[in-house]
Amino acid sequence: MVNVTKSFLPDREEYIKYIHQIWDRVQLTNNGPLLQQLEEELKAYLGVENLYFCGNGTIVLQIALKVLEITKEVITTPFSYVATTNSILWENCTPVFVDIDRDTFNIDPSLIEAAITPDTQAIMATHVYGNPCAVEEIEAIARRHSLKVIYDAAHAFGVKYQGRSLLSYGDLSTCSFHATKVFHTIEGGALVSNHPELHEKIHLLRAFGHRGDEEYFYAGINGKNSEFHAAMGLCNLPHVPEIIAARKNVFEQYDAQLNWAKLTKPKIDPSIDYNYAYYPVVFESYDVMRRVQGALLENEIAPRRYFYPSLNTLSFLPEYYPCPVSEDISSRVLSLPLYVEQPAAEIEKISQVINQNL
Ligand SMILES: *Cc1c(COP(=O)(O)O)cnc(C)c1O
Repeated sequence: MVNVTKSFLPDREEYIKYIHQIWDRVQLTNNGPLLQQLEEELKAYLGVENLYFCGNGTIVLQIALKVLEITKEVITTPFSYVATTNSILWENCTPVFVDIDRDTFNIDPSLIEAAITPDTQAIMATHVYGNPCAVEEIEAIARRHSLKVIYDAAHAFGVKYQGRSLLSYGDLSTCSFHATKVFHTIEGGALVSNHPELHEKIHLLRAFGHRGDEEYFYAGINGKNSEFHAAMGLCNLPHVPEIIAARKNVFEQYDAQLNWAKLTKPKIDPSIDYNYAYYPVVFESYDVMRRVQGALLENEIAPRRYFYPSLNTLSFLPEYYPCPVSEDISSRVLSLPLYVEQPAAEIEKISQVINQNL
């Protein structure tokens, strides 16, 4: 089966060299030297000041809400992975959904102010597929209404907007380093902070709110990650430029081969350095999407419905906020297989099956 992606793996000898170090030191986790080295290398690569390597890309969303003391309403996007919404619910906050822009599939900034109430404390928006949100407009709204901005930048590793890492925007940005992402540490994630004064608090919240032997400060959580995961990150990080170049190559093949008379895709800002994280295509209708999905499955090709459902329609939400654009697009979108060393013949086959079923 051809899946929507295939994890990049470094040379196993490279990984084993780090594993020998772990055996020699017998420090497996708890802010070890490989974790600290990975944090330094990530800060240098991304050009950010404060970065915390954590267990996954969901716990960092929860820590972000916790550290900013968000307890009430959070304006958020319905077009993302469910972790964005679930982190808000898990922290006992209330998600307030604002519809997306029909071109970028990111939260529509022109609709945000109408959703603000006296209980609104934050905006949590996803740079979906690594395509930047309207960061300037969102920042201006947040400033006018004294709101915090958290970006779920799970898709944005390696993306630069206005010459800066997209992870450097907002009060806090989070990233996922899950095995399916552009850069991965098997499981993992990071919190990127523009608030050096929160350094100690983030450190503590990540590790039970506990320091040393006897000091307990907060109701923290276990958001730590291990030396083994950090080792995978140290192996993969130097390969990021070649990973992105290989993904770009796949992108260009799909661009050239798909029948754009009957398909659309989100508009990626042409001024950015993009990471080619996903290859979503939007079909003319739900029925066409289903027909294409079935035809691809018959050929052992498994695209994914990234992103479905529109998160405002989840059954376990306290309230329904209509988001017609997101509900429409999420009913008709598929993300196509995209990975490093994907054979040209496979991309041709996928394009052919799609074009024949439009
Ligand atoms: C992958 C993803 C997450 C969750 O990351 P994990 O590391 O799997 O917990 C959160 N948000 C978005 C948008 C994602 O795509």
